[in-house]
Amino acid sequence: MNRRTILKTASLLPIATAGTSLKATAGKARKRSVRFAYIGDTHIMPESKPMQQIAKCLHHIQNQADKPVFLMHGGDTIMDALVQDRDQVQKQWDVWHQVIKSDNALPIEHCIGNHDVWGFEKAKSEPLYGKKWAVEQMKISNRYRSFDRNGWHFIVLDSVQPKSDGSWYTAFLDAEQLDWLKQDLAKTNPKTPILVLSHVPILTSTVFTFDSEPKKDPTVITGGLMHTDSAELIKLFYQYPNIKTALSGHTHLLDRVDYNGVAYLCNGAVSGNWWKTDTFHETKAGYALIDLYDDGSVERTYVQYS
Ligand SMILES: [Zn+2]
Repeated sequence: MNRRTILKTASLLPIATAGTSLKATAGKARKRSVRFAYIGDTHIMPESKPMQQIAKCLHHIQNQADKPVFLMHGGDTIMDALVQDRDQVQKQWDVWHQVIKSDNALPIEHCIGNHDVWGFEKAKSEPLYGKKWAVEQMKISNRYRSFDRNGWHFIVLDSVQPKSDGSWYTAFLDAEQLDWLKQDLAKTNPKTPILVLSHVPILTSTVFTFDSEPKKDPTVITGGLMHTDSAELIKLFYQYPNIKTALSGHTHLLDRVDYNGVAYLCNGAVSGNWWKTDTFHETKAGYALIDLYDDGSVERTYVQYS
């Protein structure tokens, strides 16, 4: 062993030792299962600002040195379909596809938001009324679904239940969907970590800061802002310790609530303040990089793209 070899070996030693002691104390080191990007509340419309900014956001994601391998869209893809006529809604979907085609190469997993639901009063008799049009445009198999990827189980929920008069909506899981969710959880391997995605948060602190004016009645949380069946869902989730995280958007605000071992992450909005300004309250327009690990841990990095 010459001097140079000794020096080389010596310089490697502290690292090797540190690695070994870490292993000895922390057991098996966790391994990242996957990195994806959460984008949500893009609220696209046929105007230059949203189109350019969404394109910029998509490039920002794809230019990351540690690049995510797919996108999860948390809903409100388009500006609004709830009170718009067919032409207006069609134009919004058209520009979405245009931007995605020219500026995105990553696969997208979509979730339905309240503004994606076609609720135009006069369209009730049309076959695309309600969520059908969104399901078709998003190329998803159903309004709610689950799939396995990179050792994790992903559950995408449909939070938005329009009121019977079509005027507005309440956030909860309808009986059919809740029944499906229970079955889906029961048949998932208890060792497989689970991620839940819903447009409207299941649990969030942002309901207390969403209003610009002080609430008239601070004891009331409106049924459009957070799931009204939170207590029931939290009880259900408690039976499945492998549910590790629940992502959402909707309030355009950024928060993290850790409750019963589940990280409830509300992930801002690509559109910031619905494109009026790039900040809504204190949350800047952005997207989130989500790292999922094989031990069920989750890390989120919120990124401003402009
Ligand atoms: Zn939104």
